[in-house]
Amino acid sequence: MRNRETYAFFGEILDTLDVALCLFDPQDRTVLWNDAFLRFFPEHAGHVHAGEPYRENLLRFYRGRLSQAEQANIERYVEEGIERHRTQTRPFVFSHLGRRLRVASQPSPGGYRVRIWQDIAPEQAVPLRDQQWAIFPIDLLGYIADGAMVLDEEDRIIATNEEFRVLYDVPDERSVIGQTFAEVVREACLKAGQEDRAAEAAALDNLRFAGAPFEVCLPGGRWRRVIARRAANGVGFFTHSDITILKRQQTDLKRAMDELATIAATDVLTGLANRRRFDQALAEQWAKADARGGPIAVMLIDLDHFKAVNDTFGHAAGDECLRRVALAVQEAVTQSADVAARYGGEEFAVLLPNATGEEAMAIARSMRRSLRMEDWARIDPGLARLTVSIGICAVRNPAAVAAGDALRRADEMLYRAKNSGRDRIDLVEA
Ligand code: GH3
Ligand code: MG
Ligand code: MG
Repeated sequence: MRNRETYAFFGEILDTLDVALCLFDPQDRTVLWNDAFLRFFPEHAGHVHAGEPYRENLLRFYRGRLSQAEQANIERYVEEGIERHRTQTRPFVFSHLGRRLRVASQPSPGGYRVRIWQDIAPEQAVPLRDQQWAIFPIDLLGYIADGAMVLDEEDRIIATNEEFRVLYDVPDERSVIGQTFAEVVREACLKAGQEDRAAEAAALDNLRFAGAPFEVCLPGGRWRRVIARRAANGVGFFTHSDITILKRQQTDLKRAMDELATIAATDVLTGLANRRRFDQALAEQWAKADARGGPIAVMLIDLDHFKAVNDTFGHAAGDECLRRVALAVQEAVTQSADVAARYGGEEFAVLLPNATGEEAMAIARSMRRSLRMEDWARIDPGLARLTVSIGICAVRNPAAVAAGDALRRADEMLYRAKNSGRDRIDLVEA
């Protein structure tokens, strides 16, 4: 990120021009803002603070401007607002507390985002009837490939083209002139037998952000993207395009990416987290434990004489043994933040945020107990028992010990357990 002071300085300069600025970090948290920001959005005064998630900011914004009926949709508006925040590429204009504000959003190095708002003087609205605007060649709408719609200053439809009617299932004999866009969407929903008022509400709210592209979901998972331009006299020109396929691809892509992320973090044989995931969790949980000042423990578990099991009973039997041990390891951990992982071939690692040495010991003992109770002969009649050696490093003050060092010390304990005869637990507290 550029220097924080630099942004603060920009903020002050913009303030003299009556331009509001707010800076957000890569996690969409508020970093800083200028005085104009609070002038344009007085609802944030006394509430906005450094580190505040953008979500909180949006919740306040919407609480102040939504009607009682629309409050029910607030969560979705907030989600859409966050999405807009992340993806906005061009400025748009909206009205807020009597101001017409143009907002631009600019990505900044390091994943930061700067939003700036300019008060664009409310050009004197001229009543529609007194204007020559009707000279606008409405017939041209027919030549536009996308759906097109023109609204008067009260958001009533003045004209549409044929493609618009197709996109919103308007029956041939039906006129939409004088209706609102929301009514058209609502009718399309009702026609499909869906009292889906949500689609209507979305259209209503988004219209207020003239200029911000928005999306409307119609029955049957059909999506329309709407982009608006408002003329100074309040007349709105809208284009509508069918983005159903795009949306479907996005959904498929997201599902595929989620699946990939799961695959990339999972061990195929046992279904436990893999080493990559463990290392990630270790870094994350260490930072949290550090911030909390609480204890944290790491444990390494290695099968004893496993090579002999493979050699005697075959690799498939060995695999089955690994699955059983994985189950015992997984079942022994109880907290949601605990991570049980397959760390290497026949070695498992367990991360126990919040656990003291004593608690980690208890968990290790319960693993050995369930391994003792396992009916190994079911895998091969000749397999009488299988044991593990366990090394634990329990850390009282994570600020004083690096995660990597704790893991190394757990490994030392594991070797001590191996060297002192196997089938035992060794613990060091740091
Ligand atoms: P120690 O008690 O000292 O740990 O002896 P060990 O035989 O368990 O250790 P060693 O490192 O000599 O052998 C580990 C064995 O684990 C060798 C390898 O064949 C086996 N192994 C590693 N990954 C897998 C796997 O995915 N499936 C099976 N079946 N065996 C595995
Ligand atoms: Mg081993
Ligand atoms: Mg080993």
